[in-house]
Amino acid sequence: MDLQIAGRVALVTGASQGIGLAVAEGLAAEGARVVLSARREGPLEQAVARIRHSGGEAVGVPADVSRAEQIAALLDETRKLLGDPEILVANAGGPPPGLADQLSEDDWAKGYELTLMSAVRLATAALPAMRARKWGRIVNITSLTVREPLDSLTLSNAFRSAVTGFAKTLSNRVAAEGITVNNVGPGYTATERLEELFEDEAAKERLIEIIPAKRFGTPEEIAAVTVFLASQQAAYLTGQTLIVDGGAVAAL
Ligand code: NAD
Repeated sequence: MDLQIAGRVALVTGASQGIGLAVAEGLAAEGARVVLSARREGPLEQAVARIRHSGGEAVGVPADVSRAEQIAALLDETRKLLGDPEILVANAGGPPPGLADQLSEDDWAKGYELTLMSAVRLATAALPAMRARKWGRIVNITSLTVREPLDSLTLSNAFRSAVTGFAKTLSNRVAAEGITVNNVGPGYTATERLEELFEDEAAKERLIEIIPAKRFGTPEEIAAVTVFLASQQAAYLTGQTLIVDGGAVAAL
């Protein structure tokens, strides 16, 4: 299927590794012109080189999405380099773990900036040009924790649910203007980050045992759903969260 996004400008944040990188690669493979962003210049340049090597069009712009002024600068630079983003994939590293009664004011403030306000600011900054064109796709990468909170991930549970509420509310505002707003909630996905979380092989095996698919997902499997949401074909799909988890969430 031709997803009809060749030539579209896409901005993907948190794109130097893992799910963000796979999304950027997936969009570039469809012919989108992709701006990859992450904090560190070195890994970002390697990610850009990987895409160019496969024949895709990509540039890198460093930015920390937990900082309002850096998001503004990222959008300015994106416009200068490739034009206004028509596809926005808002992604970043997850907020630090922590139990609900053990987080400080500072932990909450940082989680708010990184996880909620990054999605709000990126969407708000990209929206005017999407409205002018009457075409846009916004996808936030959240987590399966919006359906099934995990005790150790309080900040993720709280702020990704807030992102979900924001996305649904925004989607209603812009649905008649050719703009969709959705979320992809990854389940356990084999990225560097997930590997770091395991103390030993036995802990990993125990987790795999409770996933109906009996394996972790791949970044490419999360990316495939995200890229579809950015497609022309997904024009009537908005305000939704698609959980891509091999069946891990037990609820309906
Ligand atoms: P990852 O840690 O491997 O990659 C995160 C990317 O975001 C990296 O490129 C990193 O440099 C970048 N980043 C981190 N903080 C940033 C910031 N402040 N500003 C800009 N860029 C920043 O993570 P991943 O496994 O690819 O996951 C992506 C998202 O999906 C995360 O939010 C994660 O919590 C969520 N998620 C992942 C899993 C999983 O199993 N991997 C499951 C559920 C949800």
